[in-house]
Amino acid sequence: MLKYILRLLKDDPPPKLDKEFARIPEFRELYKELISIRKILSGMKSEEKVFKERETRLQYLANHDPLTGAINRRAFMERALVEIEKNMRNSTPCGVVMMDLDFFKKFNDTYGHVAGDKALRHLVALISASMRKNDFLGRYGGEEFLFFYDHADKKTGIAIAERFRRMLETSPVQLETGPTFITASFGVASIDGEDAKGGVNDAFIEKLINHADQALYEAKNSGRNKVVSFGGDEHAKINL
Ligand code: GH3
Ligand code: MG
Ligand code: MG
Repeated sequence: MLKYILRLLKDDPPPKLDKEFARIPEFRELYKELISIRKILSGMKSEEKVFKERETRLQYLANHDPLTGAINRRAFMERALVEIEKNMRNSTPCGVVMMDLDFFKKFNDTYGHVAGDKALRHLVALISASMRKNDFLGRYGGEEFLFFYDHADKKTGIAIAERFRRMLETSPVQLETGPTFITASFGVASIDGEDAKGGVNDAFIEKLINHADQALYEAKNSGRNKVVSFGGDEHAKINL
């Protein structure tokens, strides 16, 4: 009988009321009680599931930009810290690419804000579809995005940015008024294991992003729709 009671507690679905035991009135009572306890427990489990789902959803909202679905600036910084540390520990180079849509204010003025939003989603979709597993893209703010490339040297970082630039230049946004082209400018900043002797922290990453920003500024000033790397072809050290 104990074995049967154990099954009543654990089996899914619970066993039917045993004919032999059912003759004992107390047992019928016990059976009913255990079945109702199981119902209460399974209700609690589904409540827990709903709670977990809600938590996952909240976490997603806290880390993502609602317009494009890209991770937001804070989440990008957090993830970059972890990934850069990993690369530095393994003495592998990596880097960031900062990108900014060209003349985007004019795009909004010409085609409207809804079309502008569509262009931002277009950029994120294009890049997300073509990036490697460990790379990631974040919305840094407005029409500026930051891309992290894992385990690749400066030359590769520049090639990745060039590929994105070409992709954007040749894939129009499908607006109601027809296919419309957009371009962006790119600033690349890379690091290798030598750069992180003093450890990787927020200031280190801010400096790296600042290098990418300076390169982007140069790309804007020298004509736009361009890739410029910080420090030219030489490897630029991060000095904290
Ligand atoms: P530049 O080539 O120098 O980058 O010129 P720009 O016009 O792109 O730069 P500017 O900083 O003058 O304008 C950025 C524009 O981006 C203005 C702003 O309205 C637009 N923008 C920023 N965030 C969003 C957004 O979420 N949706 C839309 N539609 N536009 C946005
Ligand atoms: Mg812009
Ligand atoms: Mg901008």
